[in-house]
Amino acid sequence: MSSVSSGGAIPPRPPQRLGGNLSPQTFAELWRELEPLGRDPGTGGYRRYSWTPADAACRAWFIAQATKRGLTVETDNNGNLWAWWGPKGPNAIVTGSHLDSVPDGGGFDGALGVVTALAAVDLLQDKSYIPERPVVLAVFTEEEGARFGVSCLGSRLLTGAVEPDAARALTDDGGTTLAEAMAAAGHDPGRLGPREDLLDGIGAFVELHVEQGRALAPRGAALGLADGIWPHGRWRFEFGGRADHAGTARLADRRDPMLPYAATALAARQAAEQNGAVATFGKVIVEPNGTNAVASAVRAWLDARAPDEATVEDTVTTIRSAAISFCEQHGVTLSVRQESFTPVVRFDEGLRDRIAATLAVAGFSAPVLPTAAGHDAGFLAARVPTGMLFVRNPTGISHSPAEHADLPDCEAGVRALAAVLADLAGPK
Ligand SMILES: [Zn+2]
Repeated sequence: MSSVSSGGAIPPRPPQRLGGNLSPQTFAELWRELEPLGRDPGTGGYRRYSWTPADAACRAWFIAQATKRGLTVETDNNGNLWAWWGPKGPNAIVTGSHLDSVPDGGGFDGALGVVTALAAVDLLQDKSYIPERPVVLAVFTEEEGARFGVSCLGSRLLTGAVEPDAARALTDDGGTTLAEAMAAAGHDPGRLGPREDLLDGIGAFVELHVEQGRALAPRGAALGLADGIWPHGRWRFEFGGRADHAGTARLADRRDPMLPYAATALAARQAAEQNGAVATFGKVIVEPNGTNAVASAVRAWLDARAPDEATVEDTVTTIRSAAISFCEQHGVTLSVRQESFTPVVRFDEGLRDRIAATLAVAGFSAPVLPTAAGHDAGFLAARVPTGMLFVRNPTGISHSPAEHADLPDCEAGVRALAAVLADLAGPK
């Protein structure tokens, strides 16, 4: 991992072996503080959408926690938070994740990586550890794309993977643009764009995340390491029909967009099964959405993922062709637009081997797993050596209030992350 070099004014100390010394209150106490923020009392799920009051509460909580630990927090031009432990300098070791959620999401996705990072700092500070290189805790904005439709928006903007003008013009379901939402939250949207200076200062990025899927439980492992991320994308399908009376309009006369949409959702499942991919219509907006009215329009979002890019493309082409044919049968118009695409990601092997070695010394064996879930780490990986640590999810359920990780596994994540940070940030 060439970009993590040694140097700096702090004299070297013998390497410390970490583990076993965690005060168990630290993680649990932090967790309890964050837990109520943005949680819907009716569903028990989280609605932490970017640039809303729930998002502001999460940001304020993180800033207060980081400040309490002596870290210096900055909000960058894209709305990402960076909390510096130690003076700013080159070869920073960055860890963190996100605090936003999908609609009625679970509490662990993203938040686990942020809370674990704070608890890992506690553990290291409790041992009087002083990093030779800066350690930075990062919180990326709009990772889920739940409000503005593009996932990992904060890390895409940071790395130049999305045009600032295109980002500013993104709208939520109420028609509010990202620019308007940011401005309303007191953040200048005019400064969106890549930050080469920040990226150049990062020696490595390590994101800890709750496992999304169930690969660790059968292996009896609390922790895992990522080898890569499947390519994935989002497509917006607009089925245009004609509103009519659900009682009086003859079936033969209708132009009902719900029918080709429903057939397309089934075709997506079939195409995914045939191709070894996954394809999901999880968001649908129906107009006018009346029980006694034939719909005038159906907007539906397709999420498609596969082990390689050609398979994603092939799957989506099959689904689009099916939709065209169903629309022709029902006199319905169709437009399909790609909203985002993320190529396959392979994480840095040298960094992964180094993390695995550190974890082994700390007493963890961490299997290496692929993941079909997108992460900010996927965008950082294009620019800096990047790795991911997973914490076991006993049921594998994610993007749901049922998402879970057991406290002992979360605490194992804290010890593991602390060991990794101490190794990477030196002194060696
Ligand atoms: Zn996440």
